[in-house]
Amino acid sequence: MASPVVKNQKYIFVTGGVLSGVGKGISAASIGAVLQAKGFNVSIQKCDPYLNVDAGLLNPAEHGECFVTIDGAETDLDLGHYERFLDLELTQKNATLSGRLLQQVIADERAGKFGGKTVQLVPHLTNAIQDAIQLAADGSDVHIVEIGGTVGDYEGLSFVEAIREFAGRVGRENCLYVHVVYVPFIGTSKEFKTKPAQNALGDLRGFGIVPDAVIVRTDSPAPENVARKISMFSGVREDAVVMLPNASTVFEVPLSIAASGINEVLSRFTGNEKKPNLNKWKKIVAAQIKKHNRKVSVGLVAKYMDNEDTYLSVLEALKAAGWAEDVGVDIVWINAETATDKDFKKVDALLVPGGFGGRGVPGKIAAATYALKYKKPYLGICLGLQVAVIAAARRAGLKDANSTEFDPDTEHNVVYIMDGQQGKESTGGTLRLGNYDAKLAPGSLVAKTYGKKSIVERHRHRYEVNQAFKEAIEKGGLVISGTSPDGQLVEFIESNNGSYFVATQAHPEFKSRPNHPHPLFAGLIHAALE
Ligand code: GLN
Repeated sequence: MASPVVKNQKYIFVTGGVLSGVGKGISAASIGAVLQAKGFNVSIQKCDPYLNVDAGLLNPAEHGECFVTIDGAETDLDLGHYERFLDLELTQKNATLSGRLLQQVIADERAGKFGGKTVQLVPHLTNAIQDAIQLAADGSDVHIVEIGGTVGDYEGLSFVEAIREFAGRVGRENCLYVHVVYVPFIGTSKEFKTKPAQNALGDLRGFGIVPDAVIVRTDSPAPENVARKISMFSGVREDAVVMLPNASTVFEVPLSIAASGINEVLSRFTGNEKKPNLNKWKKIVAAQIKKHNRKVSVGLVAKYMDNEDTYLSVLEALKAAGWAEDVGVDIVWINAETATDKDFKKVDALLVPGGFGGRGVPGKIAAATYALKYKKPYLGICLGLQVAVIAAARRAGLKDANSTEFDPDTEHNVVYIMDGQQGKESTGGTLRLGNYDAKLAPGSLVAKTYGKKSIVERHRHRYEVNQAFKEAIEKGGLVISGTSPDGQLVEFIESNNGSYFVATQAHPEFKSRPNHPHPLFAGLIHAALE
């Protein structure tokens, strides 16, 4: 499949060396932010070497949250960084996994599309990767591609080869290679050590890529000779070797990148000398580092207690709401498996995030019960809505009310798999994914909070509220305040006692932006203040 040469479109490839997890995603997103600030239309893509087809089945405790796009792609949390930094809505084509491409190559082979040829990683997989890059780049001025993992990882070699070949496809002058390396500080000798970074750059050269810029991550500010040394050993010009020590907030990184040599690299590469307009970023950072006179605490009733990445978008949405309301937000982790009323009492508001499986569910039901009883501000997200419905039904006297996810035989299945969907539970076939419309009840708290009559939110769930129990749910203190346009599916519930108790079957956290909090989160922080 020969692809047309795309004229004038620019591509930036961000790879990593030494360690993964040193901020390649933030670096890629920040480069995009600077290009946007120069007026470019930017697109961005993550390539991950996993053999998974998507991130839907990855364990969030290991991989962090599963980020869901508007078209229902289940992706890596880096897409969340991209959306928050670049204020874009991404889709499946922005998340490319080896597993998905291999599946496609093998399906093409079975369909006889290779005309009798031997099907190989090079060129067939590498071509599929390059096609996926061009597809994701379509329509933008500059397309940024982040390659997951570190260069030299066995499983990532096809991607590195593909981005090298890509320069042949579109012209080397239209490709910019940025390598992100880590330089450790050795406490005993009080020295920054560049050897691992030199080796990583050597590895990249070994695969035929001499980068145009190097981002050097350090834990603390490093002396200039570090950049000089890396420049000397890698052949990258010194002003394109950029030091990036840890920032106090990730949203400072676009400002650091713009103030660094990368800015000139980008100007030369795009032929656009225009100074980036960084007002948006200055405002975002100012709102974050400001000392707030007012503080609220939000209890996050969670089951994964040791990894913030698992609830990344929820935490970012809470923080963004705090910045917008000019309030400091203390996030208090409440272990759903051990939680009691004492834990709920201590905080100003409660948030029950999404989740799958029964672990910690009794504690989450207890949180919703407490919030209903004592008018504690509550935001329920997906599972957080379902446990609220269970709590209300139990308050109304249906003691065994449950979701069939946790008790398949319950007589009072207030949350269930709808008729026609049963039996498909483990096929992935019944997950409701991506954007769905909802209509909000006129005059309801959610309608007021959104300031809208109809909304669109992203979904990722399988079970639905059973409206046959509407009466019990209402008796227990909740009203259904938003549904799918046809009224079949419950999308929002809220308390009928005037407190800020709101829950949604969707995942509003994915739409929050650092300078644009989501109304439901802003509403929670606002209520917590009162
Ligand atoms: N486990 C529930 C369901 O599948 C909730 C999912 C979620 O919170 N994302 O419907």
